[in-house]
Amino acid sequence: MAKSAEVKLAVFGRAGVGKSALVVRFLTKRFIWEYDPTLESTYRHQASIDDEVVSMEILDTAGQEDMLQREGHVRWGDGFVIVYDITDRGSFEDVVPLKNLLEEAKKPKNVTLVLVGNKADLEHARQVSTEEGERLAAELSCAFYECSACTGEGCVSEPFHELCRELRRR
Ligand code: GDP
Ligand code: MG
Repeated sequence: MAKSAEVKLAVFGRAGVGKSALVVRFLTKRFIWEYDPTLESTYRHQASIDDEVVSMEILDTAGQEDMLQREGHVRWGDGFVIVYDITDRGSFEDVVPLKNLLEEAKKPKNVTLVLVGNKADLEHARQVSTEEGERLAAELSCAFYECSACTGEGCVSEPFHELCRELRRR
């Protein structure tokens, strides 16, 4: 990848897992409680990652697109953040089908992705253990993070930065 390259990152995951909250936390270091869940937005962001300026375009998907729209998003993206909610097992079970969809649409290229378990502040309501998240990430050969868009714990920037690093290595 050339210097100060531009990467397109798409954020996927079931509606309600905190995709919008996570993206906005990453971009503004703030947490905003309510977003229009039907809203799809793109943001531009520049960061210095390992002494290189990377321009990101980030697509925050709504998580309720039809197949055709979703395929469009997959084709658009260079790299993907798949988010689930640690308090919602169903959102965790959505991860593998999502990954398969990405692979199908990107064939024969490899898919570059990271896995994020969000809402780590809600430990009392946890339904998916950290070990399960780690195991799934190992299966998918991708990096794994648990974090909270709400409190900012678990380093919300890291998944995005790691994705940029991996794309640059390709
Ligand atoms: P999206 O549909 O995936 O974009 O999810 P949103 O970002 O709209 O978040 C869905 C709901 O979860 C909202 O009520 C958020 O306030 C809440 N939420 C998002 N991230 C977190 C988090 O890390 N911790 C907690 N406690 N709530 C969160
Ligand atoms: Mg959203």
